Amino acid sequence: MPVDVLAIGAHADDIELTCAGTLVVLKERGHSFAIVDLTRGEMGSRGTSEVRAREANRAAELLGAAFRETLDFGDGGLRTTRENELALIEIIRRERPRLILTPYPEDRHPDHRRAGQLVTDAAFYAGLRKIETRSPAHRPQQTIYFSTAYVHHPSFVVDVTAAMDKRFEAIRAYRSKFHDPASAEPVTMLSQASFLKAIEARARYFGFLIGVEFGEGFVSKKPPRIDDPVAAFENFEPGF
Ligand SMILES: [Zn+2]
Repeated sequence: MPVDVLAIGAHADDIELTCAGTLVVLKERGHSFAIVDLTRGEMGSRGTSEVRAREANRAAELLGAAFRETLDFGDGGLRTTRENELALIEIIRRERPRLILTPYPEDRHPDHRRAGQLVTDAAFYAGLRKIETRSPAHRPQQTIYFSTAYVHHPSFVVDVTAAMDKRFEAIRAYRSKFHDPASAEPVTMLSQASFLKAIEARARYFGFLIGVEFGEGFVSKKPPRIDDPVAAFENFEPGF
């Protein structure tokens, strides 16, 4: 069974922190989606890769993913070898997604940068018939990007207001990673109390740009087709 959308992050939680609301909205519209994490999170300052796997599976269940698959490309030094590229090409061919979501390949975290580039390249190469893997060639219609640490001006914003509760429920599934006043583990960028507030603030900011409460922004190298530009800009100037 092919999936409509494949969301591919470097680490479990990359998807929940950036674009999971869009996945929930797409599922409501009848599109299936799956999540692929390129690393096991073994370099995370808090928790272990076993704890992370349990948390990630719980989050995927909450979001309604068709499946979640974890690869082992190396956390904190993500390897972009030809072997890994071919493994990713085979997953894209096997699942035949129409759309791929991945980190923008320019970020503070080198794993995000490398993941974004590797996924972009694999999505293209997956369409080259003479590159042989188990499954036949397939090229997704488009690869689109979400911002992780560095924020990029979005090409379009998805209204995720109705999906924000579920998205935050999925984020809270990563109990070992985020703020927990009872935890004795080291405080990190992600575990400070202000981090999840900043994640919510970003969704509010993107939402404000399009006149809704919460939004998720994406960068696309090609502009999306808009069928109704009037409807697309409705409520941008409230009161007029
Ligand atoms: Zn990450």
